[in-house]
Amino acid sequence: MSNLNLKEKLIVNHTEGESRNTNGPQKKVKLPAVVSIRDFAAKINKTPAEIIAKLMQYGVLVTINESIDFETAQIVAIDFDVEVLAEEENPALKEVEESGPLKPRTPVVAVMGHVDHGKTTLLDSIRNSQIIKGESGGITQHIGAYQIDWQGKEGKKRQITFLDTPGHEAFISLRRRGAQLTDIIILVIAADDGVKPQTIEVVNLAKEANIPIIVAINKVDLPQADPERVKRELSEYGLVPEEWGGETPMLNISALKGLGLKQLLDIVLLVADLKDLKANPSAQAVGTVIESQKDPKKGATATILIQNGTLKSGDNIVVGSAYGKVRFMENDRGKRLTEAGPGMPVLIAGLSEVPATGDTLMAVGSLSEAKKLALDFARAKSVKSLKSLKNKGVLEIKKELERKKQKKLLLILKADVSGSLETMKELINKLSLPELTLEIVKSAVGDVSESDIILAQTLGALILGFRVNLNSALKKLAEQKNVHISLYKVIYDLENDLKELILSILPPILVEVEIGKAKVLQVFRKDKKATIIGVSVLEGKLLRGSKVKIIDKEIETEITSLRKEKTEVKEVEAGSEAGVGLPGNIGITAEDVLVAYTLKEEKRRI
Ligand code: GDP
Repeated sequence: MSNLNLKEKLIVNHTEGESRNTNGPQKKVKLPAVVSIRDFAAKINKTPAEIIAKLMQYGVLVTINESIDFETAQIVAIDFDVEVLAEEENPALKEVEESGPLKPRTPVVAVMGHVDHGKTTLLDSIRNSQIIKGESGGITQHIGAYQIDWQGKEGKKRQITFLDTPGHEAFISLRRRGAQLTDIIILVIAADDGVKPQTIEVVNLAKEANIPIIVAINKVDLPQADPERVKRELSEYGLVPEEWGGETPMLNISALKGLGLKQLLDIVLLVADLKDLKANPSAQAVGTVIESQKDPKKGATATILIQNGTLKSGDNIVVGSAYGKVRFMENDRGKRLTEAGPGMPVLIAGLSEVPATGDTLMAVGSLSEAKKLALDFARAKSVKSLKSLKNKGVLEIKKELERKKQKKLLLILKADVSGSLETMKELINKLSLPELTLEIVKSAVGDVSESDIILAQTLGALILGFRVNLNSALKKLAEQKNVHISLYKVIYDLENDLKELILSILPPILVEVEIGKAKVLQVFRKDKKATIIGVSVLEGKLLRGSKVKIIDKEIETEITSLRKEKTEVKEVEAGSEAGVGLPGNIGITAEDVLVAYTLKEEKRRI
């Protein structure tokens, strides 16, 4: 089956690539997030026709002038033995950064950790500790991040920015879009619960993104708290506390009681100093959208984390496909600002549309330039992507289930470590619905094996792998046996794919929407073919073709003909009389009330 999703294909091809050419790909090229077929072909020394043909093999149809996204280019490039690297994530950012003069900037901190370990409590207590001391009357507003003033060791007031969307989703989705906003991660671990799957996920994410971790061992106020156990468990994952000769700062806190917060913030500044974070405040602003929404009063708004330069009220800006002038800026306390420098989160208004999370903001010279850049962005967004491959797989699974009239999706889970496996199981249990149960038929640690594929074929199960590999021989076997395998590196992707799959398998929910009521005045005719009645429309209207129910009688039928004074009409409004034809001989009598309704598809939510 050639419907491996994007990441599988990547992994599989890497494996194949290795066996073809042990020295790895011959050539390396840098590509932007979106590239036209023409430019891509030129960069890797191929003809556009070769690229188009290759994409066709994957079921993606493109013309020479169309564009593909980075991930798609990366996959195709592997087939040509070329390694594709991402161009500087934000050329504008690099340019200004290089143009100096650089000054120290505010560090940006994300608080992450397992659910219920106290992330929200910590974010709240850090913020509240400020408000008591801080400016009077400041009403906080949630804008996705906040900034505090902290008295540094040398007695100088310094700022720290906290991203206050706890949970990993925002972090991962921003990172996937190439936005590296976080300088430091505070990993919260409850001392009474210890290291959990999401704790490990954070450790892995931080390693991959090369972001330093500060461990906050929380809930030490509880009698059953065991901070030493947390340290021991963490050292198994390569995080060794400083007092044991390691490099990871770890400290005991109680987010609830406000214990250890001062020390925590001091350490944040120390770690920030080690990173030597710099930006050029005199440059034109560059930033990233961390939240956005349409506000009934303010219009399209976005919270921007300024990464370089200074954003000023009245600046011409482009943010993804939105553009405009900064009409006003507010901080996380709703206070109006005239400018915002590097590391500062601000809510801005004045955009032509609501931009997406992860979009880049740039201040530019004129509004017309902003508009042009926004248009270019919108055009580039309509790129072709290999992601559509996934849908092909989903469709086949759906057909198979329909054929078997099965309301169960059988799953085989494979993961790198038992913690990951637990996370997968938790997720799958959460997503299982009465209409479509997700049943785990096998779950084990280790790469996908031949026996997994055979079992999947026998049972008609789907194989889901998390941080595991699939070698090319097994990939071929899976194709021959028509077994679908999906491999993931982040749990968030698995969750999204499963939700997408479930939504596409389940039929839509149909809800009845009443459109009108009518009272039966007289039954004109009744025979095998039809029942013809005269009615008075009481409310709403009757439509030809609409479904009808007779109140108090278990009759459901539909209007096959509708007449007003002998003329066939499409609808009859309240206050009029009408002749209604219903199919077959129906037990309907004068004085009955019929309700006309239509069925509306409602989107399921899971
Ligand atoms: P999150 O899911 O990580 O954001 O966790 P929350 O901040 O919502 O906290 C989960 C639960 O733990 C809540 O009932 C908090 O009151 C409680 N909690 C958080 N921090 C502490 C702490 O330091 N000590 C104690 N005893 N409970 C805490």
